[in-house]
Amino acid sequence: KGPDPDLVAIVERMATVKHKILVLSGKGGVGKSTFSTQLAFALAAMDFQVGLLDIDICGPSIPKMLGLEGQEIHQSNIGWIPIYVESNLGVMSIGFMLPNPDEAVIWRGPRKNALIKQFLRDVDWGELDFLVVDAPPGTSDEHISIVQLLQETGIDGAVIVTTPQQVSLIDVRKEVSFCKKVGVEVLGVVENMSGLSQPLSELKFTRMTETGEQKDMTEWAMSYMRENAPEMLNLIACSEVFDTSGGGAAKMCNDMGISFLGKVPLDPQLCKAAEEGRSCFSDDKCQASAPALKMIIEKI
Ligand code: ADP
Repeated sequence: KGPDPDLVAIVERMATVKHKILVLSGKGGVGKSTFSTQLAFALAAMDFQVGLLDIDICGPSIPKMLGLEGQEIHQSNIGWIPIYVESNLGVMSIGFMLPNPDEAVIWRGPRKNALIKQFLRDVDWGELDFLVVDAPPGTSDEHISIVQLLQETGIDGAVIVTTPQQVSLIDVRKEVSFCKKVGVEVLGVVENMSGLSQPLSELKFTRMTETGEQKDMTEWAMSYMRENAPEMLNLIACSEVFDTSGGGAAKMCNDMGISFLGKVPLDPQLCKAAEEGRSCFSDDKCQASAPALKMIIEKI
């Protein structure tokens, strides 16, 4: 039996891509797609030629996060043409191929695998410095086949995104052992939604009245601070949301001998940027999360 022709085509296609980074998570909803998107934006802002490939079949959220919903994919004689959000940032998502976002959820493994294979083989990225791959959450059979396919073309490694709770960290361990099993280097772990951080100037203040109602005191609190301690308005209010008494992802990484890349707080402005398809680095709205993301990306 000769070499798999699909594999040969994938290797050929990926030959013009210098670096491939896989973004993984043990669970859904931890911020994997948010991280993948912001990583792609950051690399593009550094003038690299970047591709963002979303193969999260069960929840392709990249089109939404880049404001590209409803876009259709066109084909040229050399393959599917990515959608460009910037001249050096092309995007391809399974979401563009589904007539109805709910559809793929009921697909069985082989059908999902076939579509992923097609994506790796047929997208015409051209020359890329970085391809960021947003993978589905978990460590299913699909993962093994995706990773094995990508591995034939040389992957730089995987970044694992988690939240600080134990339930999410347990799944990170599985993700790490999966990477070991398939021979993918773990570039590091990102702890996302690590506490809630918000500039004090954006907080709402309330007071419980005697009748049990919440009275809005924001105007009062703001003018009090402006008059008495204006420097307070430059502070960022931080609160722990999840129980991190176990030491969170940092401790787990230390125990497992893998690198901890850093913490990204829950930041309502980051959520807004993701909803609106914006880079969190393009203005100074994401004061609480953008500096943390920037430091993490520099470590990768
Ligand atoms: P996943 O890809 O792991 O399923 P998403 O990236 O889609 O998760 O994130 C789930 C939701 O949480 C999205 O609405 C996203 O905007 C929001 N989100 C992710 N990270 C943060 C954060 N650090 N601060 C605020 N909202 C966040």
